[in-house]
Amino acid sequence: MKETYLSMGISEKTYEFCEKIEQDLKERFCEIDKVAEQNQMKVLGAMQKNHVSEACFAATTGYGYNDMGRETLEQVYADTFHTEAALVRPQITCGTHALALALSANLRPGDELLSPVGKPYDTLEEVIGIRQSVGSLREYNISYRQVDLLSDGSFDWEGIRAAINEKTKVATIQRSKGYQTRPTLSVERIGELISFIKSIKPDVICMVDNCYGEFIEEIEPSDVGADMTVGSLIKNPGGGLAPIGGYICGTAACIEQCAYRLSAPGLGQEVGASLGVLPSFYQGFFLAPTVAAGALKGAVFAANVFEKLGYDVIPNGTEPRYDIIQAVTLKKPEALIAFCQGIQAAAPVDSYVTPEPWDMPGYDSQVIMAAGAFIQGSSIELSADGPLKEPYAVYFQGGLTWYHAKYGIMMALEKLVQAGIVTL
Ligand SMILES: *Cc1c(COP(=O)(O)O)cnc(C)c1O
Repeated sequence: MKETYLSMGISEKTYEFCEKIEQDLKERFCEIDKVAEQNQMKVLGAMQKNHVSEACFAATTGYGYNDMGRETLEQVYADTFHTEAALVRPQITCGTHALALALSANLRPGDELLSPVGKPYDTLEEVIGIRQSVGSLREYNISYRQVDLLSDGSFDWEGIRAAINEKTKVATIQRSKGYQTRPTLSVERIGELISFIKSIKPDVICMVDNCYGEFIEEIEPSDVGADMTVGSLIKNPGGGLAPIGGYICGTAACIEQCAYRLSAPGLGQEVGASLGVLPSFYQGFFLAPTVAAGALKGAVFAANVFEKLGYDVIPNGTEPRYDIIQAVTLKKPEALIAFCQGIQAAAPVDSYVTPEPWDMPGYDSQVIMAAGAFIQGSSIELSADGPLKEPYAVYFQGGLTWYHAKYGIMMALEKLVQAGIVTL
């Protein structure tokens, strides 16, 4: 094995340092595999129950009436998430679109949206109208209220109670920390929050942004009272195979609203040709539990590698995980650049290019990104990025297999060693 890694550009010292860390993670990895096994059975059971057959893989065109594959897939998602209904479509272009759809479909002028978990993901700021933008909910006279988490990461129960009023119609709850430093929420904590909100006002629709969280635990937010659970198919549930798409799983009433909003009033869920992408949706969903487990092992491995080298890592090497994102505070711009170059060099696609920092629109500092993905922008594939500003934190996630995630992290470390930033 060592010879193989040496031939792949890893030095003996890096190999041995990483090997030792992997040995110590055996038990942790075993727990991750158990969760994947449970989730594999959940998905498989849903596919069997709904009689997935070869006929489901046929492409439809035009209006896509009576698309059996599409209808069956939506039922498979609904059964996996234990919801009444689901909308799973290539016409939902990304996670932001799925979230914007779920919100705009279920809010009406005069209603208020509440975020009880602080600032939402960047792209949602424009959807909501926190940042001025054309077509935001705010333009439709939908107001927004936010209650931040307390400094220890706990919910501000009194603040939330005070924020709920006669206009409050939807609560948006983001599971993953995204690119913030707050803790990611466990499904259990999400359940406590939903119960609290509903104890104050039972008809508040609770929507969970489930991006990066699917299949990391044995239960999903839909198991603890979420009315809508929403995510992207180029993250966990697409299993790396879905080339596009988003999903919303939830109550029949909420999903009906979403369907009418996605297509048109009167048409709803009945239209939407699948154009031949369904085989990848089915197969990707089937693989998703093990793909998510591989990415999760990569995140845990990286946390332990860089923690041992003295870097701040969020989450740390031992704490429980509720999403696949790992942050490492690299402290120096050269270190951030070297790390990303290592991830890139380890990729199956575009491994020969060298990522450089650039002035990305909408950011107040330069940003460096590494991704060598089969599907553009797919972040269930191994990818890393970070802004070139204090504290030079890199955020990374993904890896379609654990072995690739491991190699990517070893290569990132190798580049830090070569640059003289780390000595093993
Ligand atoms: C990725 C992500 C989104 C947005 O998804 P896109 O597919 O990039 O539009 C929203 N929320 C969270 C927490 C995410 O991680």
